[in-house]
Amino acid sequence: MSEPVIIVGGGPVGATLALLLAKQGIATTVLEARKQGAAYSESRALALSYGSKRILEKLGVWAGLVQYATAINTIHVSQKGSLGRSLLRANDYKQEALGYVLSYGALSAALDDALAKESVVNFIFEASAEAIEHTSTHSSVTYLHNNKSDILNCQLVVLADGGRSLDEIAGLTKQTKEYGHDALISSVSAELPHNNVAYERFTANGPMALLPNGERNFSLVWTGKKEYVASLLTLNDAEFLAQFHAEFGDRVGRFLSVEKRMAFPLKLSQLKTADTPHLAVIGNAAQTMHPVAGQGFNVGLRDAESLAKFIASATPDTLGSNQMLADYRTSRQSDTKNGLLFTDFLVNIFSNDIVGVSGLRSVGLGLFDLIKPVKQHLIRKMSFGK
Ligand SMILES: Cc1cc2nc3c(=O)[nH]c(=O)nc-3n(C[C@H](O)[C@H](O)[C@H](O)COP(=O)(O)OP(=O)(O)OC[C@H]3O[C@@H](n4cnc5c(N)ncnc54)[C@H](O)[C@@H]3O)c2cc1C
Repeated sequence: MSEPVIIVGGGPVGATLALLLAKQGIATTVLEARKQGAAYSESRALALSYGSKRILEKLGVWAGLVQYATAINTIHVSQKGSLGRSLLRANDYKQEALGYVLSYGALSAALDDALAKESVVNFIFEASAEAIEHTSTHSSVTYLHNNKSDILNCQLVVLADGGRSLDEIAGLTKQTKEYGHDALISSVSAELPHNNVAYERFTANGPMALLPNGERNFSLVWTGKKEYVASLLTLNDAEFLAQFHAEFGDRVGRFLSVEKRMAFPLKLSQLKTADTPHLAVIGNAAQTMHPVAGQGFNVGLRDAESLAKFIASATPDTLGSNQMLADYRTSRQSDTKNGLLFTDFLVNIFSNDIVGVSGLRSVGLGLFDLIKPVKQHLIRKMSFGK
């Protein structure tokens, strides 16, 4: 028996796709490797754009999430050792917020709850896809569940596994650039309230982001060369906070406490070819970005939104066809490319320690602050991907 759509990976992007399809009465089977509830305690902060919030709102998920989300009303961009700085304010763009900060766990729980109410979604936890094969007529997914191997056939398999498990699929090639940098993530509290301001700060060691999360806390993403980040992990809490204060400056006073710190490697990766009938790739599986501008998750959500439209307008004959998938990929090309280029540009220009570049950077930030259309463009891009 063949199903219409199987989604491999029920993370935020795969789960959103299943929900978007369910709202149109389209049945899916979602294979998710983790146990039910295993992601709910994940405190990793996701930066949601205003556009992503609107997608979740339309799906009826946002109402239950508001209490866990912290609005970003201002983004303050600065660089260490320079007076140049730029401010982006929601008010100036007639938006209620520039974005929101939300924990991965809260979002996962809300999406799982919403999916459980949809009778057309068959969500199988602890089901790990082991292989995907595609032919000109269909795809098949081999998966392990309860120590038993099973195979499902479908017209379209959507790979939303976050890009970490199924790299070896015929016809899929990825281009990867290792930054040689790691990101340290944690949560810190400070002397002064955050007032819903998110800070992006560029230092000679690499960029850092401090995002308001909860009433008083901030989520921290501090990136730098591997050795540098490794050395930050060895500091005790007081030493770490002092070093962070020295790099970040005095904008929110002294830092009072830090939670568990963890680091992960940073890379930029994107699909180079996807000559794969009956198989689409979305979310982090399709592109992985540097977290500096908080773009990755939002681009993934827009993948899900766009693919749902193509699936909904396909006929049983065209679902998963080469033409349908080529049209979908074309629709996503410019948004993905812009997101990748934009983040890569920020990392390259602002993490560069060459003499002279630093001066240019502060001039750049100063000018950027004066030119309204440039900021307007940036806001639209960060909010909606346009
Ligand atoms: C360590 C880390 C820290 C991050 N920190 C930040 C941050 O601070 N801010 C930010 O904006 N973004 C951050 N990101 C990026 C952000 O998490 C991603 O953009 C977002 O999670 C992408 O969602 P996704 O659904 O595509 O993939 P994922 O969230 O990775 O979800 C993939 C899902 O697929 C499941 N899966 C994997 N393999 C299989 C398989 N073979 N069979 C079945 N299921 C499978 C997994 O269990 C998971 O539930 C971080 C990413 C990582 C890895």
